[in-house]
Amino acid sequence: MLLTRRTVNLLLTALLIGVPFSAPAQTVGQVLPPWTEGHLDIHQINTGKGNSTLFVLPDGTSMLLDAGWGGNEGARGTPARPNASRNPGEWIARYARHMLAFRPDPVLDYALLTHFHGDHMGGPTPQAKPSKAGGYQLTGITEVGDHLPIRKMLDRGWPDYAFPRPLTGPMMDNYRAFLKWQSEHAGMKVERFQPGRNDQLVLRSPGKYPSFEIRNVLANTEVWTGVASNTRQQFPPLSSLTPDQYPDENPCSLGFRVSYGKFDYGTFGDIPGAVPDGAGPVWVDMETPVARAVGPLDAVILNHHGNRDSTNAFYLSGVRPQVFIVPVWSANHPGEDVLTRMYSTRLYPGPRDVFATNMTDANRAVIGTMLDRLKSSQGHILIRVAPGGETFRVLILDDAAETYQVKAIFGPYQSR
Ligand SMILES: [Zn+2]
Repeated sequence: MLLTRRTVNLLLTALLIGVPFSAPAQTVGQVLPPWTEGHLDIHQINTGKGNSTLFVLPDGTSMLLDAGWGGNEGARGTPARPNASRNPGEWIARYARHMLAFRPDPVLDYALLTHFHGDHMGGPTPQAKPSKAGGYQLTGITEVGDHLPIRKMLDRGWPDYAFPRPLTGPMMDNYRAFLKWQSEHAGMKVERFQPGRNDQLVLRSPGKYPSFEIRNVLANTEVWTGVASNTRQQFPPLSSLTPDQYPDENPCSLGFRVSYGKFDYGTFGDIPGAVPDGAGPVWVDMETPVARAVGPLDAVILNHHGNRDSTNAFYLSGVRPQVFIVPVWSANHPGEDVLTRMYSTRLYPGPRDVFATNMTDANRAVIGTMLDRLKSSQGHILIRVAPGGETFRVLILDDAAETYQVKAIFGPYQSR
């Protein structure tokens, strides 16, 4: 090819703004163009019944965070999406398989559970089918694993599942039977997620994207300090607490920061930050040490689905997101006071856009016109980060059927 000055300028411009020539344009009303090399895709998958995020990393490495089956029925809950003909785990696996179709081996290189609650992992239910492998039921993450191989599974409890006290019950028994079968018969590896590390979740092609990093931020109330790989325990030693003061499941959530050039995204499970009755000990606030460690982020998924015990003022003013993702399957997602704080320009200046996967009529009745400010309140939410991380867009995908049609596009946002 003859390189004229104009061609060279175009090439340079494309490199500077981070748009490769090969990237197909995404258009409202059209099917989402597939992921291409160099992009970072973060899909908040909407099943109406729990949390699930699919990451496609810049070299095509795949990672699923959570696959829940929970929520409420009736007016306090949201309907199953696309519908109730399949269980959430199967819908999630089908979504992931579609998005990973560019790979000769559409598998999950990593799957993680933020914590052990049904809306994040799924528990045995009367509708759950037994696994053909035997020994466990297909629900949430175990159903995903039945449809799509998982190479490495990470959680906060492996191998003893004993913090802060032994984790027992049908949901844990079912999950552990799944891990046992998958590791003995299907080659799955299982690891405990370790806060502070930036070398546990890595690209399949190391060194190819040096500005890409996943920093493990917290798990089991141990939080990265923001310096090297150092961590600190947010709770006092268990030996100094009475059992009723032990952390419950939510503050034990694992979470991490995904960075790509200037772009930063945070996901921290169901950590609380606001003590509900003001009388709890200060260490229950997990959000403050997280905000201190991670600094400003371009996009976050709301902690604890925006429940009233989350998203405190210190966290918001430290993290200052441009984009909030609200995963909704209950009438208290998000709390009215939480949404008020999120929109407060006293906590931090500048614009911010809020996207929800669903919204209940009950919540509309309580919150009213403030919900009109949401950019979207139905659909899968995709953050598509351009190669290099300088800019990103938010795309809303149809969740009424498996069309993968783009309903709306927001941005480009400039990463900071
Ligand atoms: Zn939850």
